[in-house]
Order: sequence, then structure tokens, then C-alpha cells
Amino acid sequence: MPPAPVSVLRIALPVPLPRLFDYLPPPGHEASTNDIGRRVRVPFGQRETVGIVEGVGTPDAGAGTLRAALAWLDDAPLLAGELHASARWLARYTHAPPGEVLATVLPAALRRGEPLPDTHEWAWRLTEAGATALAGMRAGRPRQLAELLSAHPREETALDDLLPGWRAAARSLAGRDLAGRIAVPASQFVPDPQPGPEPNPEQAEAIEAIQASPGFAPLLLDGVTGSGKTEVYLHAIADCLARGRQALVLVPEIGLTPQLLSRFRARLGVPVHATHSGLNDGERARVWAAAWRGEARVVVGTRSAVFTPLPQAGLIVIDEEHDGSYKQQDGFRYHARDFALVRARALEVPIVLGSATPSLESLHNARSGRYAHLRLIRRAGRAKPPPVRVLDVRKRPLEAGLSQEMLGRIEQDLAAGGQVLVFRNRRGYAPVLLCHDCGWSAGCPRCSSPEQNRPMTVHAHGRRLQCHHCGHRRPSPLACPDCAGLGLQPQGIGTERIEELLAARFGGYPVLRIDRGSTRRRDALQKLFAELGERPGILVGTQMLAKGHDLAGLSLVAVVGIDEGLFSADFRASEKLAQLLIQVAGRAGRAERAGEVILQTHHPEHPLLDTLLNGGYHAFAEAELEQREAAGFPPFAHLAMLRAESKLADPPMAFLHAARRAVADWQKALEGERQSRPPDGERGDADGVEISGPMPAPMARRAGHYRAQLLLSAARRAPLHAALAAVVPQIYALPEARKVRWSLDLDPVDLY
Ligand code: ADP
Ligand code: ZN
Ligand code: ZN
Repeated sequence: MPPAPVSVLRIALPVPLPRLFDYLPPPGHEASTNDIGRRVRVPFGQRETVGIVEGVGTPDAGAGTLRAALAWLDDAPLLAGELHASARWLARYTHAPPGEVLATVLPAALRRGEPLPDTHEWAWRLTEAGATALAGMRAGRPRQLAELLSAHPREETALDDLLPGWRAAARSLAGRDLAGRIAVPASQFVPDPQPGPEPNPEQAEAIEAIQASPGFAPLLLDGVTGSGKTEVYLHAIADCLARGRQALVLVPEIGLTPQLLSRFRARLGVPVHATHSGLNDGERARVWAAAWRGEARVVVGTRSAVFTPLPQAGLIVIDEEHDGSYKQQDGFRYHARDFALVRARALEVPIVLGSATPSLESLHNARSGRYAHLRLIRRAGRAKPPPVRVLDVRKRPLEAGLSQEMLGRIEQDLAAGGQVLVFRNRRGYAPVLLCHDCGWSAGCPRCSSPEQNRPMTVHAHGRRLQCHHCGHRRPSPLACPDCAGLGLQPQGIGTERIEELLAARFGGYPVLRIDRGSTRRRDALQKLFAELGERPGILVGTQMLAKGHDLAGLSLVAVVGIDEGLFSADFRASEKLAQLLIQVAGRAGRAERAGEVILQTHHPEHPLLDTLLNGGYHAFAEAELEQREAAGFPPFAHLAMLRAESKLADPPMAFLHAARRAVADWQKALEGERQSRPPDGERGDADGVEISGPMPAPMARRAGHYRAQLLLSAARRAPLHAALAAVVPQIYALPEARKVRWSLDLDPVDLY
């Protein structure tokens, strides 16, 4: 009798290879299909790594001696059911290495092999010493915290709401043994849900449509800013909770504010788990584990929260679905909104995509009937939409980019007790440092190439230069390095320069700058808003200001310096600019104070501005969709971008030429087959893929790397994926691939 076939584990490892790896089970164990989804520690080369069992089988003939896995890390599969299946789908769809995709699904701590963490809540209590010391403590945060804890221990989530900045205070108390951190059972203290406003008829209709959706249903909640979309989410989530199901809410990177979380917590009456890049690995793993165990009922998070396990899923919400932060732009490039749709289908739950400025993709899907289209066309409550006025500044003198008329309006508003937002989407002091004597300008040494000078942005009132592409910094030169002249001058206007002018001109009023430079920390923004309070004053900022913040006192939004966006080569530039303008304008008049938006431009007759301001976002979208269709761009085409980079100039192009040949050879082979045989439906699908490039990337060098790209496009998805399925394995094997870092980006958002 032949010996029984040895069974092996097929394991996905976090390495950039598009395949699984065979191992024998750990000594003393048998491989079984029950192991699929378990983490296992394995030897890999000279080191050890953590993999996930994707299957079991018999070893391939000639596989040689297999190594044995070292140890199981989980008793039961960590990845199972829908999440595992969806993740596999994502790996196939993106043609990415399965092990890298599965590693992305797991939070970092679990990826490294740490055990699934306990999911009790953490709370803080006062020690006996703390209770005694309280009476003698100086005023300040530590004392405020001690007072809060003197009645009973408080959960950290509760402290987030009660005392912003409590963590530093807690550290200070703990350092003196006055307070300590204790584990408490989850959801011990849950406030009673607070009632919200009565939904208006539009909202009621939307809520009903979501509740009435049996199983999978994509719904586009297309509602102007302030129309009460969040209220609709809250009702739909409450309904989902009442049915005993879990809800997942995705928000843009910038949209996850303490404001939003406390609104959710107050209204829902269940613990709301937040997950975002500001948490440490342990905290993120805990949220994931709590959802995995079904303990977390509502998870609110940014992009990677789309990988939250939902064993009892009932609803997915994507807020600001058009937002660019849903697309992961490096490493494994996935789109959280698109993947959420895939998951909702697999989970058979409704998914609500909310936005005041829906992506053209989603609008197209709504218009073609694939998504239900729910519209909220009025602002909720008593807030009024602000009128938008275009200010033609051709031939007008400008001061730090602001016209006299604009400055006059700002002055008026401040005098009347209003708050003013000045929007300029360019941070720093000035975009360029130029020698007025010889024309030299300061370029980034890591991002410039002989053909292309990439200016460094001037910061700190001219004292420092910084590259916004790679982060490189240096002090500004005192004299021109080329001609030794002293004629160096900052050119152009950034938010710092506007702040400087406004502070000098309106000295009596607070002027706060809000951009990535001034708000590195997550709660910094909240602190800035709190600092302003209800006083008259000015906020100067970049697109950070465009999103989600409820600024009740705003009476004027001044938009300056958007003109360069009107003439960008990127096919998505118009869409992004239109969304940005509408979102910024939407900040005004959120409360009862009437607002106005003034848009200053040198191109008042530009069709984008004309359509947007006279017809609104939907008129713009209509026109833009027509142009996309005519030009064969998404959503009327499907794209895949192959990118390559290297420290040397030639290897990226050489690699992409080889990749192009692989695609072309495959097409030729297909063509030959078709001529020798009548086409059958399946195969007939596999052409119609257009190749453009290779060409240097629009940013041909970045952070010391030369970059190039090859674009594949097709009117339908199937041929594109057939081409990639055939060619990507060959691309991995190309000798040229070893000399570059390359990546494949399915449905790229940026073409650079
Ligand atoms: P969006 O998410 O569309 O920007 P929100 O849900 O945040 O809108 O609502 C905007 C403001 O209007 C909030 O202050 C909210 O409390 C209020 N609001 C929402 N719906 C109603 C309603 N039906 N009646 C009164 N006020 C409402
Ligand atoms: Zn010079
Ligand atoms: Zn640079």
C-alpha cells in the first residue's frame, strides 16, 4: 500500500511575491482545513515570520524537502468567513501578493504575531494617596482630572469627552502614584441616549429607504452641507443596533474629530469604538479584537477601519465618500470605499455613501440605477445656504494675494462681530524662493532632475526651506548660491504669508492659521477652535478647513488663489477643485448667522467656475461626466497604473518597456488565437486594453528616486483584468524588475 500522502499547509506570507508557500504543520500536528485562517509562525530564509494558512494540500511533486512551521499563534482561525473571503477577493482584484493583502487586513500588532488582545476597557481611578492629595493640589489639568476621578473611576472614552488633554494629566498623576489605570469590563458606564432633532421629511424619507433595504443595497446620500446627513446616519445606526447588529462608519482622515465621536456617543447610548492612525498598535488591535468578538457594536474609523471584522454586520456608512484619503497611496494601494462596497455585498447589508459633493463614480452609479439616490437639497434647521460671489481681481493691486475689496469685506465682517475664514490651499510662507538678480530658484536636491526643478516652499517667514514632496528641509541661503547676490525673494503666497498680513492689518483680532504645519496633533485643531471661541476673528487655512467642522460663527468665507487648480493636467483636478470649493463654501452660514462666500479669481469666466456657481455641483458633475465619457476616462474607462522607481535614471523605463512588451506579446498571442478559431465569448473579452507609456512620471524624481509609469486602460473591466492576470506573474519574473521598486495601482486616483 502506498504511504498516505503527506499534507502540507499553504501559507500566505507578508512578502512581495504573488504566491503561497508550502510548509509542513508544526511538529506533532496534522494539517486540516480547520486551520485555514489561523496564524502560524514559520522559518523564512534566515529569519522567522508570521503567516496565515490559506489552504491545505499535498506537496507538489519535486517540491524538495519542506520546512516545518514552528508554532500556531491562534487556537481558532483569526480570519474567517466574510472578511477572509473579501480579503482574498481584494488580493485577486488588485493582483497583489496574497500575504501582503492579508497582512494589511490585520492590525500591526497581530501581524507581528502578538495574541488577540483582551478587550476590557481601561479606566482611571484615584489612589488613596491621590484622594488625600486632592485638597492640596494646584489648579490645572491634573487637579481637574483628580476631581473627576474622586467620585468613581472613569473610562478613558468618557475622559476623552469630559477633559480634553487628560492623558498628559493622567501621566503626571500616575508618575506620583496619585492615580492608576485599571481594567474594567467593557461598556460599564453607558449614558442614556440623548434625543436628536425630529427628522424633516427629506431625512425621514432617506432613513426609511435605508431601513427598508433588504440585504445588500448601496445608497448614495447626496445632501448639501448641513442638510443633516449625519442625523440620517445616526437614525440608521440606531435602527441597526436595535436589530442587534454591528455598524461600521468610515470617515475621512480629517473628519474623525472628538466633536463627531461625542455626538455619536451621546446619541447612540452604546460605546463607540474609534480607530485611526493616532492610536498606538495596541489600541488599534483592541478595537479590531472587540469587533471580532462582536463586543464593539459601533466602530468609527478612518481608511484602514474598512478591515474591521463584522461578525454581526448590519450597516456600513461611508461619510464624505468622495474624500481622497480613502485611497491608500503607497504600499498596498486599496480604496476603502470600493472595498467597503464589496464587503457590504458579501455581508448582505445596506451601505450608505454620504457626501455633499459625491464622486463622479458614485453619481454615475446613482444615475444608472446601480445605487439608490437619496437627496437632501435643503439645509436642516434654520441655517441658510450662503450666496457665492465672484470677485474679479484682474488688474487689481493685491496684498499678500488679497484684493483691497476683499480686505475691506473682512474688516466689515470683523467689525460686525463675525468670524472670517480665508482659504488658500497652499501652506508655508511662499511656494518659491527666487533670486531677483539672476533668476535662480531654490529647488529640492532630492526631487529635482536636470529637466525639472522642483521648488522648495519657503517657511518661517523666509528663514527655512522645505520640500512638500519629500520633507527635505534646510535653512534659507543668505545669498544666492549662483550669483552671490542678495536679491533672494519669496515668490507667491502661502497661508503663513496671509496670516502675517492679516495679523499686521487686523491687530486687534485673533488670526489663527490652520494647516498641516500648525495642527500636527489630532486635537490641535479642536484647541485652535476652542481658542477662538465665539469672538470675532480670522481663520486662515488650507483644505484642512474644508471638511466637516461645524463653525457656527462664520459669516464670511474668502477663497483666494485657486486659479492654478483651474488649469491642472490631471483629469481629476476639476472634480477635486469643484468639491473643495463647495465644501469650503459650505462652512459658511452653518448656524443662524447668514454667511457669504467670496471667491477671488483672475478667471471669472472660466467654465468650471461658471457652471459650478450658476448651476451648482450637480450641473458641474453633469458637464464633467460628459467630458470624461468623450475622453474615455473613468468612470467610463478602467485604469491600472504600473509605476517604477529607482535611484538610477534608467532602470524604471527599462522595466516598464519590458512590462509593455509582455502585455503586447500577450495581446498578439490572443489575436493569433482568435484568427485561428472563431471567437468565443470569454476570450473575446480579453482585448481592448490600451497601453500608454512608459513615460517619466509627471513628478519625474522624488526623494532621490527617478520615477516612471505605464498606464493600461480599457472600456470594460473584464479585459483589463484578463490582461493583468496573464501578465502580472510575468512582470514579477522580469530580470528588470530586480533593479526597481515597482507597484501596480488598480483604479488609480492620481495619475502621478
Ligand atoms: P451634515 O452631516 O449634512 O453636514 P448634520 O447632520 O451635521 O449635517 O446637521 C447639520 C446641523 O443641522 C446640525 O447642527 C444638526 O444638529 C442640525 N439638524 C440636522 N437635522 C435637523 C433637523 N431635522 N431639525 C433641526 N436641526 C437639524
Ligand atoms: Zn542669483
Ligand atoms: Zn523633495
